[in-house]
Amino acid sequence: MPESVLHQAASEMLDWHGSGMSVMEMSHRGKEFISIYEQAEADLRELLALPAHFKILFMQGGGLAENAIVPLNLSQGGAMDFVLTGSWGQKSLKEAGKYGTARVAASAQADGFTSLPSPASWHIGADSRYVHICSNETIHGVEFHKLPDLKALGCDAPLVVDFSSHVASRPVDWSRVGLAFGGAQKNLGPAGLTLVIVREDLIGRALPHCPSAFDYKLVADNQSMYNTPPTYSIYIAGLVFQWLKKHGGIAAMEQRNIAKAQLLYDFLDSSSLFENRVAKDCRSRMNVPFFLRDESLNDAFLAGAKAVNLLQLKGHKSVGGMRASIYNAMPLEGVQALVAYMREFEKTQA
Ligand SMILES: *Cc1c(COP(=O)(O)O)cnc(C)c1O
Repeated sequence: MPESVLHQAASEMLDWHGSGMSVMEMSHRGKEFISIYEQAEADLRELLALPAHFKILFMQGGGLAENAIVPLNLSQGGAMDFVLTGSWGQKSLKEAGKYGTARVAASAQADGFTSLPSPASWHIGADSRYVHICSNETIHGVEFHKLPDLKALGCDAPLVVDFSSHVASRPVDWSRVGLAFGGAQKNLGPAGLTLVIVREDLIGRALPHCPSAFDYKLVADNQSMYNTPPTYSIYIAGLVFQWLKKHGGIAAMEQRNIAKAQLLYDFLDSSSLFENRVAKDCRSRMNVPFFLRDESLNDAFLAGAKAVNLLQLKGHKSVGGMRASIYNAMPLEGVQALVAYMREFEKTQA
């Protein structure tokens, strides 16, 4: 979270704009909250340069719930194709199989999810209801720097993108997207809010047993208020959107993120103690997994990091090692501090 957003939320916690209420105490149908909601939606639309034929839905359940909600809305019980570039895509594939035929179009599992299978090699069925990718694999640190152009592959199916962990970190080419979803907690605000952006023509295809609160048509027709939306999380995300606008928007954020990631990867590539194993053309700008070549030093590395207030560096348990998540709100100074510590640590081990 940007620190200034937390300060602002703290100052408005008991009394929002003289309303005499905390945002948590507002009716989601009252004019105060509606104004918060409308501002957040308009700011997000502007930030993402979202064309008018896409709807923004503020939902709940997180990225994992969307793994079910997307096939419930788009599969029509048919076949779906998944490109696996890490463990999030694997989860999506498994869940979708409950609602239709979920197929693997391509997988980078054989190389430990350190590369992107080239789109020309993807096997997409002619009957595909949609093609799913995870555009930033949070655990394996693999990112599509460009979204695939399915039309150029001769495929008319819509592209579904799980962009949970890098939404708002760079511009999106919406001409290539049918639907994008993401939990808010990585880059947009607190947990509890799930963002779904969906092309209008894909709305209204839900399976009959799709829960009403998860039917995109009902959600869209009710301005995300079919059920009570996660009001406080929307409010905080709205403050983050204003912070993004104030700092130059998404294009400026992308430049900042490139500089942050470059600093860390350059150090890793020059180090004799640390390494990143992901192919250079698809390294994530948000999640940088790295390993100590001598893993017996892991605990000492983490303890020393904690001593200088560098926290949450332990890698996901499924891959081990370390991971630096350097989301939008992480300033360059934070990455500089990490690299300075790693340099020092490396010296003491020489
Ligand atoms: C974090 C994450 C999720 C899971 O989000 P939840 O809100 O925990 O359901 C899904 N996909 C990706 C890529 C993620 O990084």
